[in-house]
This record gives sequence, C-alpha cells and structure tokens, in this order.
Amino acid sequence: MSRSVLVTGGNRGIGLAIARAFAEGGDNVAVTYRSGEPPEGLFGVKCDITDPEQVERAYKEVEEKQGAVEVLVANAGITRDQLLLRMSEEDFTSVVDTNLTGTYRVVKRASRAMLRARKGRIVLISSVVGLMGQAGQANYAASKAGLVGFARSLSRELGSRNITCNVVAPGFVDTDMTRVLTDEQRADIVKQVPLGRYARPEEVASSVRFLASDEAAYITGAVIPVDGGLGMGH
Ligand code: NDP
Repeated sequence: MSRSVLVTGGNRGIGLAIARAFAEGGDNVAVTYRSGEPPEGLFGVKCDITDPEQVERAYKEVEEKQGAVEVLVANAGITRDQLLLRMSEEDFTSVVDTNLTGTYRVVKRASRAMLRARKGRIVLISSVVGLMGQAGQANYAASKAGLVGFARSLSRELGSRNITCNVVAPGFVDTDMTRVLTDEQRADIVKQVPLGRYARPEEVASSVRFLASDEAAYITGAVIPVDGGLGMGH
C-alpha cells in the first residue's frame, strides 16, 4: 500500500535521492523546497523550515494532496563553516535553527497525526561529523549531535504508539554541500575513508527507505552510519 511520505529539502542532493527512492517504491511523496522550482515528477511544497508558519502551511498542503504524513524524513540542512574564534553567533544559531530546531518543527507537526494513527516512521539525517566532530564545523557538529539525543528521546516517547524514530549518519556524499571543498580537501577526506570514495546520494536513500519499511519495524532510536567506514567506533 502506498504511504504518505514527506521529505524536507527534497529538491536536490540527498533529499531528492530519498524522495525518488520512495516514489519508485510506490509511495506518495511530497518534498519541501525553499527556492526555485520543485523537482520534476514530485509534489513540491514551498517551505523554509526556520519559519513555523511555513511549516504549518506546508503540512496542510501535503495533507490535502496525499493525506496525513506517515513517513517523515527530516533531511534539510545547512553548513556555515568557520573556526570557533571566527564563528559569529549568527553562524552558530542559523545552523542550529535550521538543522536542529527546524527538525523539531517538522517532527512535532508530523507526530500529531502519527500519534492519532498509532503508527509512523521518522528518519532524521544527521552526519558522521555529529559523532566524530570536525574542526571548523562546531556549529554543524553540535546541531547534528543534537539530532541523536532528540531522536532517542522521541523513540522513548513515541514507541508505545508504534512510531519509530531513527537517525541516518552519512559520511561524505557527493552533493552541492561537499562540492565547495577543494580537490585537496576531497583527496584528504577520501584517504580517511576505508571504502576510499564518497557516497552517492542513492546509497544514503536506500538505508532511509529500509528504516521506513516493514522489515525495520523493531528498529528505533538507532543511529545508522552510511559513511564508508569513516566513523567506525563512534
Ligand atoms: P544540499 O546542500 O545539496 O541540500 C540541502 C537541502 O536542504 C536543500 O534542499 C535545501 O533547500 C534544504 N534546506 C536548507 N535550508 C533549508 C531551510 N531553512 N528550509 C528548508 N529547506 C532547507 O545538501 P545535501 O543533500 O548534501 O545534504 C542533505 C542533508 O544531509 C543535510 O542535512 C546535510 O547536513 C546532511 N549530510 C550531508 C552530507 C554530505 O556529505 N553531503 C554528509 C552528512 C550529512 P534549497 O535548495 O532551497 O537551498
């Protein structure tokens, strides 16, 4: 049976690959996009997740089109890299407001209907950096580590209602976010990855789809690394 799926930041990169994977599996998929046009073949709702009113409006549009959200993938995220002494308060708070508080906004709104339905799947996209830390990314790492505590708390709050909440922690994935790195930085990263390469967005999408599937019904509060072995032990 096709489910109502919502992917935030689903207009490009990892989010788009996740949205396409669910659509190929026969689900009804909506994506949020902040600017530009929605991706071809997918239902798009305009939404900046830092604005609670836009989040509310987006959910209403999705509910009208495909019913209450049964699978939520909170994927939208940003970086604003800087060493701590040069990191402005705005650099810090804008990343936390998007990656962590933005996720709180969309998850909270989705949980209402999931609690009523007594079922639901929530998957949060964190990062290996949230577990290992990364010089120049204290804001980003803090926001991504925060998602782990958030998800695990929700697993405990929502588990008795048959709602699972899991985290996927990708390593380095070939998207716009990592294309800003220099060739030298990329080569340095690849040297540290046991599999010796970046991930393709589709390789993250397949784990997300698994966590939302019947096969993963007994998995909640888990952090699934999709990082080519980079974060082993964390
Ligand atoms: P991209 O930069 O390619 O895409 C980011 C997406 O998030 C875009 O759709 C963007 O929308 C959306 N977005 C950003 N801010 C907001 C906002 N305020 N409201 C709504 N949407 C927003 O990144 P990736 O695809 O690489 O990353 C997706 C997720 O995966 C992120 O959470 C990222 O932190 C995480 N991740 C990425 C890794 C990588 O190596 N690429 C590694 C580990 C984790 P718009 O197009 O409008 O800007």
